[in-house]
Amino acid sequence: MKVGIIGGGAAGLAAAAFCGGDTAIVERNEKVGKKLYITGKGRCNLTNNCALYEFFPNIVRGEKFMISSLTAFPPQALMEFMGENGLRLKTERGGRVFPASDKSSDVIKTLLRAAEDRGAKILLDTRVLGVTKDGGGFAVHTDKGDLRFDRLIVATGGLGYPSTGSTGDGYEIARSFGHNIVPAVPGLAPLLLKDDVSPLRGLSLRNVRATVTAGGKSVSEFGEMLFTDDGVSGPIILTLVSRTNRLPLAGAKLSVDLKPALSPDTLDDRLTSDLGEMRNKDIANILTMLMPKALIPYVLERSGVPPHVKGNSVTRAQRYAVGFCVKNLTFTIERADDVKKAIITSGGVDLKEVDPRTMESKLVPGLYFAGEVLDVDALTGGYNLQCAFATGRSAGIAAGSK
Ligand SMILES: Cc1cc2nc3c(=O)[nH]c(=O)nc-3n(C[C@H](O)[C@H](O)[C@H](O)COP(=O)(O)OP(=O)(O)OC[C@H]3O[C@@H](n4cnc5c(N)ncnc54)[C@H](O)[C@@H]3O)c2cc1C
Repeated sequence: MKVGIIGGGAAGLAAAAFCGGDTAIVERNEKVGKKLYITGKGRCNLTNNCALYEFFPNIVRGEKFMISSLTAFPPQALMEFMGENGLRLKTERGGRVFPASDKSSDVIKTLLRAAEDRGAKILLDTRVLGVTKDGGGFAVHTDKGDLRFDRLIVATGGLGYPSTGSTGDGYEIARSFGHNIVPAVPGLAPLLLKDDVSPLRGLSLRNVRATVTAGGKSVSEFGEMLFTDDGVSGPIILTLVSRTNRLPLAGAKLSVDLKPALSPDTLDDRLTSDLGEMRNKDIANILTMLMPKALIPYVLERSGVPPHVKGNSVTRAQRYAVGFCVKNLTFTIERADDVKKAIITSGGVDLKEVDPRTMESKLVPGLYFAGEVLDVDALTGGYNLQCAFATGRSAGIAAGSK
């Protein structure tokens, strides 16, 4: 039984490590795991050390589909597998699991060794250009010639960071076999804004609540965000994009509550007292007690209060307007950033056409999908890699055991 695996990323390597027998990974790059290498800022946050009931809410698309493979291979099983294969791990804040060495290369080495120990061959620098049926198996057409496999696992990743090798080739292969591809859009990506926020570039806001309102729906996240040259990024923005990427974002509103812990009344009391205590100072200076200096022009401009009005001259209406803006500092969204800059691609092979226990195509027996090529995406925290490993393992076991 010959099993071919297209793609030597997280899912492809996991598939090979669990497949055994006569298996070959066909990888277009000069080495495997190029994307794995840059994960977790080079440290590879490979999973989240949490119970499955805590894991599932972090899956944005494909939660139900992932039940079988994650139940069979939950985070603790992955951690055990890594340990058995000689990789020491550590768990950090929020359950994020990293190699003890802080080196993503150690995760790649461990997976590669496990795959080779099970007998997998690795064909590097070989790009798959297309696949056709060949009797009961598959003819895989590559830029180095044709290969033949009895079973085939497509683990080609999504569309993000194409320099790592993921350029959506798997979608074309799936389409050529009649599979529906759910349109790919960015998940975990920055937001581009219509407002000029370049003066705020690099400003990081902690403990704020950001809300995207689009298509009649509002989605909020609490935590940290930061301003970029042309928009916003940071943990809560990436999450918001994943949760709103199917809504009409162009022209929609991003609203930031700079003081979510203060009720409007408490904030008004605080403003009243600050304005009274610093009655002879400009409001622009007084507000430095409440927010980063760089934000003050935005708050004043949106509330229609001149920056040089003195504390004792601020009217009640002006004070209310400032308070309102502190709790609702709004920006107009242009769009989510390009899918090429996304940490995860949302969309991919339609899950309705894939068996969630084996990852086998329901349309083409012997054809399997694993990892990001599937319409599965999750939030940051190690959840995406765990999904790639779990689907890779299921596909590997099923393809190898037929
Ligand atoms: C900057 C960044 C940081 C991230 N950090 C984390 C993190 O810390 N934790 C986490 O859980 N997730 C993280 N992710 C997401 C995670 O990397 C992906 O979920 C995961 O890599 C998906 O695995 P995969 O095997 O499906 O795809 P990939 O890892 O992209 O692997 C696909 C492989 O297929 C190969 N390939 C593609 N087309 C062909 C072809 N035609 N022929 C031959 N080979 C082909 C590619 O070269 C590639 O090696 C991060 C992503 C990015 C971009």
